[in-house]
Amino acid sequence: MIRFDHVTFQYEKADSPALKDVCLSIAQGEFIAVVGHNGSGKSTLAKHINGLLVPTEGTVTVCGMRTDDENNLLKIRQNIGMAFQNPDNQLVTTVVEEDVAFGPENLGIDPKEIRVRVDEALKAVGMTDYAEYAVHHLSGGQKQRIAIAGILALKPQVLVLDEASAMLDPSGRIELLETVHRLHDSGMTVVMVTQYMEETTGCDRIVVMKGGCVLLDDTPQEVFRHTDLLLESNLVPPETVIVRDSLKSLGYSIPDDVLTAKQLAEALCPSK
Ligand code: ADP
Ligand code: MG
Repeated sequence: MIRFDHVTFQYEKADSPALKDVCLSIAQGEFIAVVGHNGSGKSTLAKHINGLLVPTEGTVTVCGMRTDDENNLLKIRQNIGMAFQNPDNQLVTTVVEEDVAFGPENLGIDPKEIRVRVDEALKAVGMTDYAEYAVHHLSGGQKQRIAIAGILALKPQVLVLDEASAMLDPSGRIELLETVHRLHDSGMTVVMVTQYMEETTGCDRIVVMKGGCVLLDDTPQEVFRHTDLLLESNLVPPETVIVRDSLKSLGYSIPDDVLTAKQLAEALCPSK
């Protein structure tokens, strides 16, 4: 569904490329997490997925369409929904359901169809009961879910989140992550850039960026076997993985693929 073929990208006036020879394939229905230290190229990568940036060298293909062909851009952007850090910058009206309807209204979609889409989108993010609420009464996590509902109302094939949880409190982050997992379970392809490593353990694959390059691209189980590489890249593995490795170094026998607190507890106390 998304393919990066030897993509190098350099911003104007920058001394070095922000992406270097990036190769990446994302299949329909996959849930990919993208992690990396500040400045490693995550946002630059995300902006290539909807053609907001086009490669200096190499190609990006989305749903079979190359992003460097301007004739494809409208279609590509209809297929790719993007959510960003600050929910306040993404909400445009004062009432929840009006906000979700805003995108489809701008596309001139039939009002009856808009009603259906708004209801479906609010249901998908678990915000049906808030349809008539004032946006400013919502929590950060709720606002971000409304921003995502607005994207869903445009019926994209892929949801790209660029640190969408960064400004949320812990409960807002959990709400958002659960929402994204539910969307993925119902078939959505998801690319989630995050600074929180513990958000990545339930994904299909984790792409670790370092200095504009893909350092690792593998399942969470494999990526978190390389805690040394992650720490070298200033990335702190999830707490459970740190505890797992500490216990292993003390001689406890714990499988390498333990990633969550529940799995760790089961490995330590199998008889419960
Ligand atoms: P991340 O999202 O991982 O923090 P970015 O993709 O934003 O990283 O940035 C990658 C590199 O590109 C960084 O060195 C950053 O300073 C640089 N960069 C980002 N945006 C611009 C820009 N608009 N102009 C010039 N350089 C930029
Ligand atoms: Mg960024």
